[in-house]
Amino acid sequence: MLVGFVCSLCGKQYGPNEVEYVCPVHGDSGNLDVVLDCAAINRIASPETISASQDSSIWRYLPLLPVADPGFERTPLRSVGGTPLYAAPRLASRLGLRHLWLKDDGRNPTASFKDRASAVVVARALEIGTKTVVTASTGNAGAALACMAAAVGLPSVILAPANAPQAKVAQLLIYRARVILVEGTYDDAFDLALAASREFGWYCRNTGYNPFTAEGKKTAAFEICEQLTLARTSKSQLPTSNMWTAPDRVFVSVGDGNIISGLHKGFKDLLALGWIEYMPKLMGVQAEGSAAVYNAWAAGTETITPVHAATLADSISVGLPRDGVRALRAVRETGGAFLTVSDDEILKAMKSLASEAAVFAEPAAAAAYAGLVKSVLIWQVDPGEQIVVLLTGSGLKDIGAAMKAAGEATRIEPSLEAVKRLISQGV
Ligand SMILES: *Cc1c(COP(=O)(O)O)cnc(C)c1O
Ligand SMILES: [Zn+2]
Repeated sequence: MLVGFVCSLCGKQYGPNEVEYVCPVHGDSGNLDVVLDCAAINRIASPETISASQDSSIWRYLPLLPVADPGFERTPLRSVGGTPLYAAPRLASRLGLRHLWLKDDGRNPTASFKDRASAVVVARALEIGTKTVVTASTGNAGAALACMAAAVGLPSVILAPANAPQAKVAQLLIYRARVILVEGTYDDAFDLALAASREFGWYCRNTGYNPFTAEGKKTAAFEICEQLTLARTSKSQLPTSNMWTAPDRVFVSVGDGNIISGLHKGFKDLLALGWIEYMPKLMGVQAEGSAAVYNAWAAGTETITPVHAATLADSISVGLPRDGVRALRAVRETGGAFLTVSDDEILKAMKSLASEAAVFAEPAAAAAYAGLVKSVLIWQVDPGEQIVVLLTGSGLKDIGAAMKAAGEATRIEPSLEAVKRLISQGV
């Protein structure tokens, strides 16, 4: 139920059909927040009615989304979200924590969190009768858009940096997106996608530009609260009050800053509706080599200075974050913090997650866990807190990085003797 939009920079309000992407006063940096009608939502939905839904996808939250039911039941568009919230007791005890949860968003149709955004953008595209959708992407957003467009039969155009991991490029191609590899950075691809969408009248999904991406991403906040409530309720009793329980702290990796902004929006929606009691602290994790938002946070400003991005975590390799201001506010307004992690710490985190919690995450996803490890080291975290780490993409997205983290397998000639020799060496 879309009431309108409000500019995150100047607070100017717009009706639902007055603007398409950003605040006209502020140009490309004026990200719009979607405005919903809480009273109207509370008349037709409640935590109870939603928890009773048979639909395990993001579409169970339709009353809280700014789009109409897109149809296309029993297609990948309708199976986005509903990803598992895993307990991680071994990792927790290693870190001295009591309640650690991993939200595995690698378990989406295209194996990344970006499906949440692309599903809602495609629903919007259907509503406004778009003929073609376009996005810039480091890979995951593009794969997600290509998949959701394929699910509804819309042509898609994806602009990605030419050095995107091969698995991600393969994903784009197989969905028959028109794939344009840009010999430049993600930031170059971003500007080019904007220009092309204006030139050809394509509907543009660019992160930190299209206001509907954050609305898709906020569904993860809904799921976290709903799943945590169920997990904390003993089997014999159902949740007593008609409310959900928020976690105390959520760790999330930050590139453009749209995921953390979307999560913040989701928790704010639930708080405004009276469906949760408090706001979790949001912890933004950036790669050391791509830390423009962290830098602004550390400097205590809202002015974001672009950096020359360099990290193996390609999904968070962003020189000029397009949703940086809202990302800063997500952290500042919730009493969280920003952290940076090195590529080595990210590779270590990939190994820990897989071997001790059985989740294979791509580097940008594992960065969030590396951030938790650092946060525990500097005593930011209370051991009794309910902590959620959002794992945003599958490790199969970037096999090169996984091989770097895991090392080589041992080769032998095919004889039991050779196996014995190895075993005796403790391999
Ligand atoms: C896009 C992405 C991120 C970062 O999201 P932003 O909105 O750019 O901050 C993190 N992890 C993965 C796997 C992603 O694809
Ligand atoms: Zn504005």
